[in-house]
Amino acid sequence: MRRGRRSGLYTVIAVHSTARGPSLGGCRMWAYGDSRAAVRDALRLSRAMTSKSAVAGLPLGGGKGVIMLPADAPTLAPARRRDALLDFGDSIAQLDGRYVTAEDVGTSDGDMTVIAERTEHVGGLAPERGGSGDPSPWTALGVETAIRVTCERVWGTGDLTDRRIAVIGLGHVGGALARGLAAGGAALVLADVAPAKRALADELGAAWAEPGDALRAEVDVVAPCALGGVLDDESVPALRCRAVAGAANNQLASDELAGALQARGILWAPDFVANAGGVINIAVEFEPEGYAAERARARVLAVGDTLRAVFDMAEAAGTTPLAAAQTLARRRLDEAAGP
Ligand code: NAD
Repeated sequence: MRRGRRSGLYTVIAVHSTARGPSLGGCRMWAYGDSRAAVRDALRLSRAMTSKSAVAGLPLGGGKGVIMLPADAPTLAPARRRDALLDFGDSIAQLDGRYVTAEDVGTSDGDMTVIAERTEHVGGLAPERGGSGDPSPWTALGVETAIRVTCERVWGTGDLTDRRIAVIGLGHVGGALARGLAAGGAALVLADVAPAKRALADELGAAWAEPGDALRAEVDVVAPCALGGVLDDESVPALRCRAVAGAANNQLASDELAGALQARGILWAPDFVANAGGVINIAVEFEPEGYAAERARARVLAVGDTLRAVFDMAEAAGTTPLAAAQTLARRRLDEAAGP
């Protein structure tokens, strides 16, 4: 944790693992109640990034960066925002390439350009800067693929025609996901805390609901695409869907809830498997041939194969998809660590 010289704001960078290569994880700009909450978030999210990259077979470890916004003034004036990003870049530069940043909640590819003024260890730069740009549409493509594979497992087909799906959180990922699902013929229930997002529901001919109602709606699939912890001791018993697959990181308030979902006959696609599309896309920047969108698309669609393998492992071992995905991640990390 470091206090920025220019902005006076605290930044936290958590490098959870470099076993498979530099630790890649986005820069989250967020208002936290106190610094302990920011550190806890960075540690939790960096651990998830290790699992995400390992399961996806990427040559990367896991990390996460956080810029702590003041809780009483969470919107920064442009000059202070720029200062905060430059301070964050200075923090990265001190880590000698062990941590590579990219976009996350609260930051954009334009912000990456600012950070890149202070360090070369930045992924997801704007395409005109030679980067792969906003990872969110790729995350959305991976999540859509995961939803199709989850449907295939439950109903025997990944065809989304008339499949009832609730998307909760219509930001960069959830919005693109909703468009993709609508194009695939799904009947959508859309929800967000921001009332302005209702316009997307109107545009797509979808039903609109409050987030809590959408979570408990009688639908086939719930796709959590806002923030983490949405599946907890209260919400899991109240679910009325057969499957959950979405973009939000750390959807389970605790790992035990994977068992509670299974006991209720609800198939959960582990979040760090389903939402890996963005990091998979950025990892293509590190390939020897450099970034190419066609290669990225093929790699992101492979999220479906990974999820099928996870579901197969879980069925064969009689465990939850979470336990199977964690086993797969551990196996890949052990292989990378060598004998
Ligand atoms: P975003 O900030 O663009 O969108 C989040 C949306 O959720 C906003 O529209 C916000 O109004 C809404 N929201 C916030 N709290 C809510 C609540 N309680 N109920 C309903 N809606 C709520 O973020 P994003 O980039 O779309 O990411 C969404 C989730 O996916 C996050 O958990 C993020 O960590 C995860 N994720 C994103 C990416 C990516 O490529 N952007 C990759 C992997 C994981």
